[in-house]
Amino acid sequence: MDKKAIKILLNTIKISQDESLRDWFYWEAYMQYITQEDFEYAKSHSVMYDQENIGHDEICRRIKIAVDKIEKQDVVNAFLYSLSTRQLEYRSFLSSYCIAKSLPEHSFTASPEPNEGICAVCGIHTYEFEEPIEFNTINYFKYKDGPCFDNLIQILFDVEQFPKLPAVTPNENDYRILNELKKIIEAAEPNDRISQLKKKISKTIKSNDGERVGLLEILGVIGILHDDEHLGYANQYVTYLERKHRPIRNDDVGYPARWWQGKFGIDHEKWKYGFGKNEQKE
Ligand SMILES: [Zn+2]
Repeated sequence: MDKKAIKILLNTIKISQDESLRDWFYWEAYMQYITQEDFEYAKSHSVMYDQENIGHDEICRRIKIAVDKIEKQDVVNAFLYSLSTRQLEYRSFLSSYCIAKSLPEHSFTASPEPNEGICAVCGIHTYEFEEPIEFNTINYFKYKDGPCFDNLIQILFDVEQFPKLPAVTPNENDYRILNELKKIIEAAEPNDRISQLKKKISKTIKSNDGERVGLLEILGVIGILHDDEHLGYANQYVTYLERKHRPIRNDDVGYPARWWQGKFGIDHEKWKYGFGKNEQKE
């Protein structure tokens, strides 16, 4: 992607964070800190976007159309490529693809009271699509943190964005990191959770704490890290009501990685489904 366009995005949002503090992520806030010329430049390189009015059903429809044009091996390659290069914008496509693929096309279905504003199937809230939707903060987080997404608006962004990025191919270093990650997960202590695992993988992959959690959450979504009851999205879409939290106060790890413990190890079937083709290249 164009380096100048990326710099415009990152700078704009960073200034907004510094200047607007609590409101920095609103369109009206960050757009104060960018010139029309720079915005047009970043848009022409598919790094920034105008706001769009998209309703719930249209979000679903567009996700299904976009994901059908993506080959699984291409998003696997993107994920692997992000490991050694630390080009974090490539990382979340794999889990977003998995969620998008399993998503049933559906109409807004109100959750039981008092959460009737939240769709019981996908979990998006009416306030998220009643106003025009902005995608620039989503892209900002992709470049900065490589997070794992499960919100449908983020998924929509990822599956529509993926074909706009140059296709990439992983190299020996990526495969080495992948295999080391596998060994570390398999050797985890029975009671280890993500907070222990993220420390154990820190020497294997150049990363900060948040990036490591995102990486492990992605492995959860694609079906590799889970417990016996809370599974990822590989076989079946997990509805909003099924994405259970653990009964603890600071349950800030995404579903289903939050349920994983060392004793559950690796889901070998899903590992093979995701990375089987790549392992053979060792
Ligand atoms: Zn929904």
